[in-house]
Amino acid sequence: MRNQEKHFMNGEWVASTGNETTEVINPATEEVIGTISLGTKEDLDKAVKAARAAFPSFSKTSRNERVEMLENIVRGYEKRKDELVEVMTQELGAPLKVSEEVHYKMGYEHFSKAAEALKSYTFTEDRGGHTIIKEAIGVSGLITPWNFPTNQTSLKIAGAIAAGSPVVLKPAEITPFAAMILAEIIDEAGVPKGVFNLVNGTGNVIGDGISSHPDIDFVSFTGSGAVGSKIMENAADNVKKVALELGGKSPLIVLDDADVDEAAETAVHHIAMNTGQVCSAATRVLIPESMKDAFEKALLNALPKFTVGDPREDHATGPLVSKKQWDTVQSYIEKGIEEGATLLAGGTGKPDGIDKGYFAKHTIFTNVKNDMTIAQEEIFGPVMSVITYQDLNHALEIANDTVYGLAGYVVGKDEKTLKYVAEHIRAGQITINNAETDYFAPFGGFKQSGIGREWGDFGIEEYLEVKAVMGLPTA
Ligand code: NAD
Repeated sequence: MRNQEKHFMNGEWVASTGNETTEVINPATEEVIGTISLGTKEDLDKAVKAARAAFPSFSKTSRNERVEMLENIVRGYEKRKDELVEVMTQELGAPLKVSEEVHYKMGYEHFSKAAEALKSYTFTEDRGGHTIIKEAIGVSGLITPWNFPTNQTSLKIAGAIAAGSPVVLKPAEITPFAAMILAEIIDEAGVPKGVFNLVNGTGNVIGDGISSHPDIDFVSFTGSGAVGSKIMENAADNVKKVALELGGKSPLIVLDDADVDEAAETAVHHIAMNTGQVCSAATRVLIPESMKDAFEKALLNALPKFTVGDPREDHATGPLVSKKQWDTVQSYIEKGIEEGATLLAGGTGKPDGIDKGYFAKHTIFTNVKNDMTIAQEEIFGPVMSVITYQDLNHALEIANDTVYGLAGYVVGKDEKTLKYVAEHIRAGQITINNAETDYFAPFGGFKQSGIGREWGDFGIEEYLEVKAVMGLPTA
């Protein structure tokens, strides 16, 4: 049982000024695994004060000093691997293999790539009549969701440290423990006091406090669109810069020359990975009308390979993160049935033989029309909508007929067509034929999927201001 009722500020763990706490639940067992403090506005003020005090000197540290800090963090992160993997399986319910190969790996990649990007980052550029100098933005507030406990936190912290911006992090209150391990790693990595601060708490108190805090210069938020809008509103009061990484309803376009079995397996993988709780998951699968029967058969063949069960055993999929998320997913499945989509597999309720934990069935709807609720709203669970198209332009029209634009996927053989599709999907990150993720590639959304880009050098850019200097002496 983890009782971690302290916040990290100015280089030490300190008790809250309030006494409210919350329990953290293991979604696979429904058992309490620990308690955290729900911080107060006063706690937040103390953390912001520490970050503000650290800003003048931290923002003037040399590139090499910050590279060294990031590399120390990478080494500390590697040392704590087993613990991080274990804690993410406990708090999120991710299968151990997914905790290691996806969650742990992503955090590692973000710190490593930020260090690498920083080594060659151009902070000063002579452009003839003027010189551009990029400087740390000030104090950054980071607000993260529960679905990738090390990924979302690490990528923001890494970008901020690389840029020289002190931070106050508020991790999701239902998966806080991986972030608390990160705090310990950062503390041991030679990062100056006050540069990294962590305050646990609710969105309404600490999250809201960050977005409206007069002494925070920039808010980097990942989460739902509704909260993203609220953050923008709050930030408007003192004209704070915001970066928002929000939801998605990404398309996977299957071309008519694609291998049907491979395409079906790719489609199922998208709803199975992290129990479909992935903002960039392809949840709308667009197939040629002529492929319908073969594709449905291939989906049913692929499904048994993606088992659902105890995350400590060898399953592809664990539970959803919470009862609330389970209820949301159930209501979307009901809505899909009600609106007339055909249930090819899965459905409401828990998978056969499972009665404890927030497990859901891999659910596939066919005969989906793109204006149905299940095709338009982000479900954030293991639910796929299969939609047929007549020709390529029709596929692209459907793909782009959404308020979101986070990611897009295409599988097929003809290179010209693959390129054409990549150029015409309106989204921030496109993956062709399951290409490996490059963590230097910028990540972020078009349209209502967000504002800004993270990862690698683009991730550093977020935490910088641009200064133009005319007549800069060269000596
Ligand atoms: P959420 O918006 O409910 O919560 C995200 C964070 O915001 C949490 O830390 C929460 O405590 C905090 N929060 C809640 N209310 C707040 C308020 N009024 N002011 C400030 N902060 C507040 O989202 P969630 O349920 O944790 O995560 C799921 C959502 O996140 C999905 O919509 C998903 O698409 C999105 N997401 C996006 C990305 C991306 O990179 N685009 C990545 C992961 C998740």
